[in-house]
Amino acid sequence: MHEMSICESLVSIIEDQAVAQSFSRVNLVRLEIGALAGVEVEALRFSFDVVTRNGIADGAKLDVIELPVTGWCMPCAKAVEVKERYDACPDCGSYQIQITGGEELRIKEMEVD
Ligand SMILES: [Zn+2]
Repeated sequence: MHEMSICESLVSIIEDQAVAQSFSRVNLVRLEIGALAGVEVEALRFSFDVVTRNGIADGAKLDVIELPVTGWCMPCAKAVEVKERYDACPDCGSYQIQITGGEELRIKEMEVD
């Protein structure tokens, strides 16, 4: 499962941070996940529980912020929000949209002791 390897890399980032910032316990991990990141949030939660077991983030709460797909509409010359990569501009109906966001997958913040 692809979410399992995502969680494994998250845990290694968290462990590196723990060493760098000398904390020993993670209570909450807040993630930002774009709609185009291809991540199944429920699968991610399940994997996170499995991967963090007996580690520094054992029992930590996983908070997921889902980010929309954003793009730059050329005819409108402004940033717009769309549902999917090949959607039309909600304002002018054009397909000349350059996707600028929605592939994010990052730790926004952590609550630690
Ligand atoms: Zn437009």
